[in-house]
Amino acid sequence: MRLAVLKERLPGETRVAAVPDSVKKLTALGIQVVIEAGAGESAAISDAALRDAGAEIVADAATALAGAGVVLTVQAPDDATLAMIPRGALLIGTLGAAGNPSLAQTYAAAGIDACSMELLPRITRAQSMDVLSSQANLAGYRAVIEGAEAFPRGFAMMMTAAGTVPPARVFVVGAGVAGLQAIATARRLGAIVSATDVRPAAKEEIKSLGATFIGVEDEESKAQTGAYAKEMSAEFRAKQAALIAETVAKNDIVICTALVMGRKAPIIVTSEAVAAMRMGSVIVDIAADAGGNCGATVPGERIVTDNGVVVLGYRNWPARIGVAASTLYARNLLTFLTNFWDKDSKTPKLPPEDDIVKGVLLTRGGAIVHPNFVQQAA
Ligand code: NAD
Repeated sequence: MRLAVLKERLPGETRVAAVPDSVKKLTALGIQVVIEAGAGESAAISDAALRDAGAEIVADAATALAGAGVVLTVQAPDDATLAMIPRGALLIGTLGAAGNPSLAQTYAAAGIDACSMELLPRITRAQSMDVLSSQANLAGYRAVIEGAEAFPRGFAMMMTAAGTVPPARVFVVGAGVAGLQAIATARRLGAIVSATDVRPAAKEEIKSLGATFIGVEDEESKAQTGAYAKEMSAEFRAKQAALIAETVAKNDIVICTALVMGRKAPIIVTSEAVAAMRMGSVIVDIAADAGGNCGATVPGERIVTDNGVVVLGYRNWPARIGVAASTLYARNLLTFLTNFWDKDSKTPKLPPEDDIVKGVLLTRGGAIVHPNFVQQAA
């Protein structure tokens, strides 16, 4: 079985879906790994390192994809690439099916069996394949590092002969995977950290990392018992906006990470709240891909507001830490493939009744099989 990995086409994408370690393990399964030349370059992985691990390096995407039975990718392939993927191939990546309802139809029409890995169920067995978690964790870390770089004072308290530099105050919005890593990272750098979330379970997690919990606690937030937060009512949002405005005015750096699955990100830090922040403060909005949590965020941009607040609204934060992100992502895909590898036929076998398969598989044999998208297509 041939497995193809291409250079990612999306501008700004630095990650690659296979790294030397995963290539070695894929090869050990009896897979012929074929990689487009230069695919790992932006993640600091040379063709030579991938070749040494057992991959065949070929000049272009068409050659890599010819005869491929499996294609590993980070982003959904563009139209030109899609047209080169053989019918019957299994495509595995963060395809973004929820944000693009016609995608499942496209793959069905192309006869490609597609796994949209961001739809993986959050169950214990799937943890080591969880691309959202591995990438969010690194994004949360990177957000703090870039926030620190943009902040003109420093994070840790410094007592010197010339006087004391106070510690930075960091406020983290959303304490899921990214937010908890942001809290831990900011603490390690010496900041005084507080954080908010709407799920009651997050409160203890925030406190266990040594941060202060700040949040509206009412009947509506108490009902947020699922793994994912739901969209909050207008009444809750008004109460939250007042508390957050008061909080951000006292902080130097705000790290925004709050998401609601399948929806636009909630605006939690309003433009009015940003206007009350001190000059030199920094907002890092890693929810920018979903519109952002801050009213002043311009997705994809670094801006400075009229009152001198820097707002980093870059997209695709995992790509800003591409080496580590590629390593963890490649490991997630390897684990997925290994889990469903049939040793006898030396091909992946995805049992339709398996919860993980049910979660991620969009199409099979030219038909849409994912319950969320069958309905949309009908
Ligand atoms: P996410 O990316 O969907 O959202 C980030 C955070 O934003 C969440 O904590 C959410 O509650 C919060 N949020 C949403 N709306 C908000 C609002 N209006 N105000 C404040 N905060 C808001 O979440 P995630 O990082 O993917 O994690 C979601 C949950 O899943 C967490 O409890 C996490 O521990 C859990 N999880 C479980 C597994 C597993 O069991 N395998 C794996 C990963 C994550």
